[in-house]
Amino acid sequence: MKVIVVGASHGGHESAVELLTRYENNEVTVYEAGDFISFMSCGMELYLEGKATQRDDVRNFKPEDVEKLGGQVYSQHQVTKIDPDKHEVEVKNLANGETFTDTYDKLILSSGVTPTTIPVPGNDLKNVFLMRGRDWATKLHDKLHDDQVKNVVVVGAGYIGIEAAEVFAKGGKNVTIVDRNQQPLANYLDPQLGEVVAKTLSENGVNLDLGRTVSEYQGTTEVQSVKTDDGCELPADLVVVAAGVTPNTDWLKGTVDLEEGGFIKTDPYLRTSAPDIYAVGDAIKSLFAPAGKPAPIALASAARRQARYVAETLAMTKPDRSFPGINGSSALSVFDYHLASTGVNAHNAELLNLDVAESVYHGKLRPNFVTDGNPDVWVKLTYHPESHQILGGQILSKGAITAHGNTISLAITAHMTLENLAEADFFFQPGFDRQWSVLNIAAQTALGETPAV
Ligand SMILES: Cc1cc2nc3c(=O)[nH]c(=O)nc-3n(C[C@H](O)[C@H](O)[C@H](O)COP(=O)(O)OP(=O)(O)OC[C@H]3O[C@@H](n4cnc5c(N)ncnc54)[C@H](O)[C@@H]3O)c2cc1C
Repeated sequence: MKVIVVGASHGGHESAVELLTRYENNEVTVYEAGDFISFMSCGMELYLEGKATQRDDVRNFKPEDVEKLGGQVYSQHQVTKIDPDKHEVEVKNLANGETFTDTYDKLILSSGVTPTTIPVPGNDLKNVFLMRGRDWATKLHDKLHDDQVKNVVVVGAGYIGIEAAEVFAKGGKNVTIVDRNQQPLANYLDPQLGEVVAKTLSENGVNLDLGRTVSEYQGTTEVQSVKTDDGCELPADLVVVAAGVTPNTDWLKGTVDLEEGGFIKTDPYLRTSAPDIYAVGDAIKSLFAPAGKPAPIALASAARRQARYVAETLAMTKPDRSFPGINGSSALSVFDYHLASTGVNAHNAELLNLDVAESVYHGKLRPNFVTDGNPDVWVKLTYHPESHQILGGQILSKGAITAHGNTISLAITAHMTLENLAEADFFFQPGFDRQWSVLNIAAQTALGETPAV
């Protein structure tokens, strides 16, 4: 089977490796428009903080990694057009401007997204930056080490904005985050946990300008300040915009059906509207399993699971199972805190119109007598009000608790209830946790019990 993959990031990489290693007789060609294969934006914060060997090591794979498996990888090759009837793609070699045609039996689109710029006056000023990919990583690195840059405004308090804010605050800059939401990480954390994150950001010198919308970037050639809708003016030598993403799908208009927002429309088997064309990654809305509905979930973990599924079903006329969906599990550090979030939360429950109940447990991670390294922990569980089926969870602590997010994700997938989680068998060791794991305690608390710790 001759397979063409568009895009050499997480979805493209996983598609190629799966097809070349787990299945036989596949000829795989990956076309990537960018000039570098394949910078890993997930590692950008580590690179900027000087915790990576070097910039070009922060990547998913080198072309030769896939080539030695028998695949072909072309950078600076943009797929500009698809002819689904002829099973042909038009490819432009961006290095020399030449265009050629290639044919496929199956085509996998993993063309991803581009960070959205905010359409306000001044958005073309110098030093209004985005944060995705190797080129922006290089520019951000330069600014981080530029003494002329004193004031940094980050637009957007999602994961990426928080990463940017932390990097520049640790780099000695005066950092302000502007977001129209009233709390940081509002798409991931509910207010009880979000307010802890807000406090730690403030304590670490990050100014929070929340509940405000950017209305203008001011300056002559370079940005000098950011104006908000309520007339506030923030000095800025650098602006980092992390305010959402736009799918790279303009070129697909009229070829495959697109949804509102430009996402590629896929069926439960991740097939597009055109025969033999599949799509994975940030450019699609994936099945959000705990809600049973599609949702935009821009995560590398999602792209990889979708690509694995597509590789498995590519040769099947009728796949024997549909894509099982994802829970949207993610984790992050914010200064001394660690957090993980999975499944349904207050934000997406409202967006998707889901009827959920919730409960928060706040206590110590280990027995009270432990004085050394016994931080507070918050666990929030979201569940079905009648069946008590677990639909989501969030956990936050200065302790190493992020793996609990994965445990909650498994509980969601296994359709466990609060009752199941309340008695689930987890270890106890006072060096790590309490007599009951915080997950047991959180479920017991949600059931209205008084945990025996
Ligand atoms: C700063 C940052 C940190 C992140 N951290 C995490 C994290 O910790 N964990 C996590 O799970 N996710 C994280 N993500 C999200 C993760 O990077 C994305 O979910 C993932 O990269 C999506 O992969 P993808 O294959 O859909 O596409 P993308 O990564 O968007 O890549 C698409 C590729 O396709 C190429 N392309 C587009 N159109 C064409 C065309 N017509 N022809 C040829 N090539 C084309 C593009 O040049 C691009 O290289 C982070 C993202 C950012 C920006």
